[in-house]
Formats: sequence, C-alpha cells, structure tokens
Amino acid sequence: MTHPIDPLLRRRHVVLMILRSFALLLLVIAVYSLAYPIVRSVQMGQGLNSIGVLYGSNLHAWFGMAVGTLVPGVILALFSQWFARWIVPGIREECTHCGHEIGDHAGERCTECGGRLRH
Ligand SMILES: [Zn+2]
Repeated sequence: MTHPIDPLLRRRHVVLMILRSFALLLLVIAVYSLAYPIVRSVQMGQGLNSIGVLYGSNLHAWFGMAVGTLVPGVILALFSQWFARWIVPGIREECTHCGHEIGDHAGERCTECGGRLRH
C-alpha cells in the first residue's frame, strides 16, 4: 500500500505543472519570434539586413515581443517551484523561502537557507 499524497502537495504539483507549461509556451514563442526573421532573411538571401526590410517600422514591436516573452519565460522556468510554493502556501510551518519544514525551531532564521521566518 502506498502512502496517500498530501492534498496540499498535490495542489502545488498541479500549479507547478501549469506554471512550467506556461513558461514553456513563452519560451517557444520567444524562440520562434527570434528565429523567424533570421530564417526568413537567409531565405531572402540578403543577410540579416533584410530583418529591417521584413519588419520595417514594426522592428521595435518584434524585438519587444521576443524579449517580452523570453524574459518572463526564463524567470518563470527558473523560479516555478518558488512561485508554486507562493501560490499554494503550506499549512504547516515551513520556510517561505526554501520550503524547509521548521517544526519546533523558534529562531528568527531558517536553518536551511538563512531566510527570515515569520512565526
Ligand atoms: Zn529556508
């Protein structure tokens, strides 16, 4: 018989999967946004100068789209576990920074990461 999974951890796992899926979507859009004009330029045979020809006055919008999806995608991918802990907070006493269980520890700082504890 397997040990039943804590409903809180199950909920946090679902949130984590959603966050990671969204991060992946953002990264795919970012890679596509960055790669498309480069591939088109090569196809047109005019080198990277044709990016300006392709996008004209929308060049800033293209660059904004690429960076605007790349940066949040990378942040979400790197910190998805932290976001999941933040979105689905623990009922038991645990460090809000690293998730380490505090138990009876009454100190000001987490023994695992040194983060400030709120009792
Ligand atoms: Zn900690």
